[in-house]
Amino acid sequence: MGSTRFMAILATYMRPPRQPPRAFVTRAVETTVLSQSRRRCCVCFYLHDINEVKKGQIAHLNKDRSDGDIGNLVYLCLDHHDEYDSRTSQAKGLTEDEVRLYREQLYKANRAQVDLATENSQVTEAANPILPLLRDESAFQHARDQDNAGFEVLNRQWNYPLWQVVDQTDLFAYKSHGDIDGVCLIERIDLPNGAIAIACIAPCGNPGQSITNNVELICFQVCERFNIPPKRLIWLEHYDYGDPEWNWVTFRVMPPDGPFSDPRWHEVSSTLWSEWGLIPKKKLPRRGPVYGSKLKKLFKRPSSFEDLS
Ligand SMILES: [Zn+2]
Repeated sequence: MGSTRFMAILATYMRPPRQPPRAFVTRAVETTVLSQSRRRCCVCFYLHDINEVKKGQIAHLNKDRSDGDIGNLVYLCLDHHDEYDSRTSQAKGLTEDEVRLYREQLYKANRAQVDLATENSQVTEAANPILPLLRDESAFQHARDQDNAGFEVLNRQWNYPLWQVVDQTDLFAYKSHGDIDGVCLIERIDLPNGAIAIACIAPCGNPGQSITNNVELICFQVCERFNIPPKRLIWLEHYDYGDPEWNWVTFRVMPPDGPFSDPRWHEVSSTLWSEWGLIPKKKLPRRGPVYGSKLKKLFKRPSSFEDLS
């Protein structure tokens, strides 16, 4: 490949996204940040000597959420992300430089840890190589040009089924920040007190950005599609791999006042679980071609449509 062509391909690949997104972080970069940090928060690590996996988010050091450069990203626990993002010039909050320093210290410690583990292990797995990005789209464009009408279906929005089944968890494709959309699992649970719990579960293999980083958008898409009144909503977030934690996400702003925004995560306590009459299961059950529920219900499900209204 000539170097000019290579540069042209590189330029296409590196072109800025079409719309200025709020948080454009590619999946590869997200994975690198998560693995380099080993999901540890560098502020917890450096200031509080806590070296353990934390529920967190990827923060933008320079506060520019369209800057998805890896050097600008840091994994922070929810508390420290909050503290960092809400920092005002008056308060002696976390500064960008100190967080950078803490991040480097954490990465250094993690590398030492990984080196030690590699040394102690006889078997080392080679990293999976990344397949090259293929950029020749002319064949498909040509086919589209031949038969415009046949492609109408491809140009319309993704349509989800408009029913939800009791004790069944369905895959839900969501649009997310940046160009990479994702897939999550959704279950709707109508609680006896009139609230509607939506369990949003990240499945293994989600190609898109995380359900945490996109919670406002996913919540909007699900609630809009299924017409769930925001006032009755209990949004539950869970990853079907890794730690067994469940979080209840609340929003300071909800429709009709605006899109879901300013989310807060609260780990679901045993008191809340019993208040809701739910018990999380260890495994997401499969019943033939469908997923069952990851939440056991301690109440009787509605037996008719009259009960649901
Ligand atoms: Zn922290």
